[in-house]
Amino acid sequence: MALINKSLPVKTVRKPRSVTINPPKMCQPMGAILAYMGVHRCVPLVHGSQGCSTYPRYNIARHFRESAEVAVSSLAEDAAVYGGAKNLTEAIKNVKSRLNPALIGICTTCMSETIGDDVRLISKKAMAPDDTMRIIPASTPSYVGTHLTGYDNAMRALVETLAAKGKGEPNNKINIITGIINPGDIREIKNMLRIMNVNNIFLSDISETLDTPIMPGGHKPLLPDGGTEPSDIIDSANSLGTIAICRTAGSAATYLQNKFKVPAVLAEAPIGVANTDRFVQNISMLSGAFIPDEIKKDRGRLIDSMVDVHHYMYGRKVAIFGDPDLVSAIVRFCAEAGMNPTVAMTATKHKDFAPDIKAVNSEYKTDTQILEGTDLYEFHEVVKAQGAELILGNSKGKDVADDEGVPLVRFGFPVYDRVGVYRYSIMGYNGSIYLLDQMTNAILGHKYDPNKLHQ
Ligand code: SF4
Repeated sequence: MALINKSLPVKTVRKPRSVTINPPKMCQPMGAILAYMGVHRCVPLVHGSQGCSTYPRYNIARHFRESAEVAVSSLAEDAAVYGGAKNLTEAIKNVKSRLNPALIGICTTCMSETIGDDVRLISKKAMAPDDTMRIIPASTPSYVGTHLTGYDNAMRALVETLAAKGKGEPNNKINIITGIINPGDIREIKNMLRIMNVNNIFLSDISETLDTPIMPGGHKPLLPDGGTEPSDIIDSANSLGTIAICRTAGSAATYLQNKFKVPAVLAEAPIGVANTDRFVQNISMLSGAFIPDEIKKDRGRLIDSMVDVHHYMYGRKVAIFGDPDLVSAIVRFCAEAGMNPTVAMTATKHKDFAPDIKAVNSEYKTDTQILEGTDLYEFHEVVKAQGAELILGNSKGKDVADDEGVPLVRFGFPVYDRVGVYRYSIMGYNGSIYLLDQMTNAILGHKYDPNKLHQ
C-alpha cells in the first residue's frame, strides 16, 4: 500500500561516535518512580543524591501537570566513604511519619549502586517488628538500561515482593501490565475491558494518581486517590492471565507465569488495527469473554477514519522516535494507513524492535530505516537523508522538526511543550482514531517547503 523508498537499505545503523547527542531516554529511577506512583498510597523513595529525585519530579510535573511526592535519601560526599545506610534509614522513618504510606518503593541510583548499599537489609532494619507498611526495594542502577528498564525492575519487585497464591479458585481477573503509557491510554484500555465485561488488575495504574481530579471543596489529598491497591497486587498471582501492553515491562508477567502458572502474553502495543485486534483476541482468549458489537463498531469507525483521510495521508513520509513498544506499533499503524514510515528510532534497545519493523517492511513493502540504541542527532541525520513530512515523538523532537520545517505530533513521555497530551489515548480503536486525526490535521495545517518534500 505505501510507497517504496529504495534510497537506503533497511539496516540497523551503528553510530560511528563515542559521544551521545540529545538521547531521548532517561535513567532508571525515572521509570521506577512511575511504576510506584501507580500503586495506591505508595511513596517512591530514591536512594541517591538530591538531583536524582528532582529531575524525575521535574519531568513528572512538566508532563502530567501534577506535583509528585518523591522522597530522597539525599546522599552526599560522606556516603561515598561511609555508605548510605544512615541516610536511607532516616529517609524511611521520615516518609513513614510524615506521609503514613501503605508502601515505600525504593529505587537505587548510580551512587548507591556504586557504593554497594544492601538496600534490602537496611530497609529491613529500619522497620519495627509490628510495622504494617511494606517496603519494596528495586535495583535500578542508571548506568545500565533506561527509564524503561527502571519501570520493569520496579514492577517486577512489586510483584515478587507482594504476589501470593490464594487457597481458592482463580479470581477471574486479567492482569494488565501497562508500562509507561499515559493516564488517557489506561482509561481507554479500562473502557474496552468494561465493554467486554472483563475484571482486571492494572499493574500499575497512574490514571488517577497522575491525573488527579480537584473535587468539590478544592481539597487534594497529600497522597492522591487511585492507583492499584496492594491487595490487588497480592491477588495478581491468582489471575487468569497477564497481558503486558509494553513488552519492555514484561518481566513481571514472566515471573507470574513461572512462579504461579499465570499465563503471560507479551504482544505488540494495541495501536492501529492489527495490534488492537490481537489485544482484543488475547483478552477474549484468556478470559473467555465474547467480543461485543460495541467493540466491533469502534473497530469499524477506525477503518472508516482511515478511509476518510486516505487521500491526505497516502504515501506521506513520517519519521517516528520514542520508546520501542510505541514506535513499532505506530510504524505498523502508519503503514496500515497507507503512509510511508521512513525512519523508526528508539534509544532503548529491545530484542523485538528490529524484528517488528522488519515484519512491517515485509508485509507492506515499506523501507523503514531502523535506528536502535541511538540519539536524536543520528535520527536527524537519517531524517535529512530519507525525508519526512511529519515527525512523531516526544517534545525532545521539536528542534529536529523545526529544522526540517515539518510538524511534530507529540506522543510518549515527556511532552512538556504542549498541555493535555497525557489526557488522551492513542491506544485501542478509539485512541488510534485520535492519533490518525492528529497526524492528518498536522499535515493539513502545515505549509511545507516544496524544496524539502519527497527528497
Ligand atoms: S543518571 Fe544517575 S546521577 Fe543522574 S539522575 Fe539518574 S541516577 Fe541520578
